[in-house]
Amino acid sequence: MLALGVAHCRILQIGDPLLREISRPASETEAEPVFCELRDTLHEFRRTNGFGRGISAIQIGVALRLIYIEFEGQPYCLRNPVMEPVGDATFDLWDDCFSFPNLLVRLRRSQTVRLQWDTETGDTATLEASGAFSELIQHEMDHLDGVVAVDRALDRNSFCTREEYERRYLRHSIVSETLTRSLV
Ligand SMILES: [Zn+2]
Repeated sequence: MLALGVAHCRILQIGDPLLREISRPASETEAEPVFCELRDTLHEFRRTNGFGRGISAIQIGVALRLIYIEFEGQPYCLRNPVMEPVGDATFDLWDDCFSFPNLLVRLRRSQTVRLQWDTETGDTATLEASGAFSELIQHEMDHLDGVVAVDRALDRNSFCTREEYERRYLRHSIVSETLTRSLV
C-alpha cells in the first residue's frame, strides 16, 4: 500500500511543545501519505543510529493518531489505535526515544496489551502483544496523548545518558539484550 520514494522528515526533539499535543483521529486519506513519511523517517533513523522500531506521527510534527511500527520484520500501519492492558502483570525496563536518542529512562510497562486499530479498508484489526512488542506499542501510544517516556520515570535514579548506560550496564552484562531491546 505504501508508495516508494518519500523523503524522510526531521524528528521533533524533546523541548518542542508539539510533542505535548494530543493527536486527533485520522481518516484513511490523511493517513496514507503520513505512513509513507513515517516509514522513510524510521528507516533513515535506523540507518544513522543503528536502532529504531516505531514512530508516531507527532514526532514528525503531524498531530494525527498514527503509528508506524516494524517489529520482527513485520510492518504495522496503526490508524486510530486503542489499547488496553491484559491482566495486571508489569515489567521494568530502560526505554529510549527518537526524540531524545541519547537518554534512557527506567519505567514500568504492562506485560501484555490488546490493541485495536482501523485498517486501510475501514475494517478493525486487533492483536495481543507481550514483552518487547507490548512495551513498544505502549511507548508509541503515549506519544498520541503527548506523553513521553521521561514522564514515566520510576524515580530520580531512572535517568541515564546512553554513554553512561553503555559503561554501566552493557560492558559487564550478558543480559544486555534484555536491557537494550527497548530501543524505539
Ligand atoms: Zn518515542
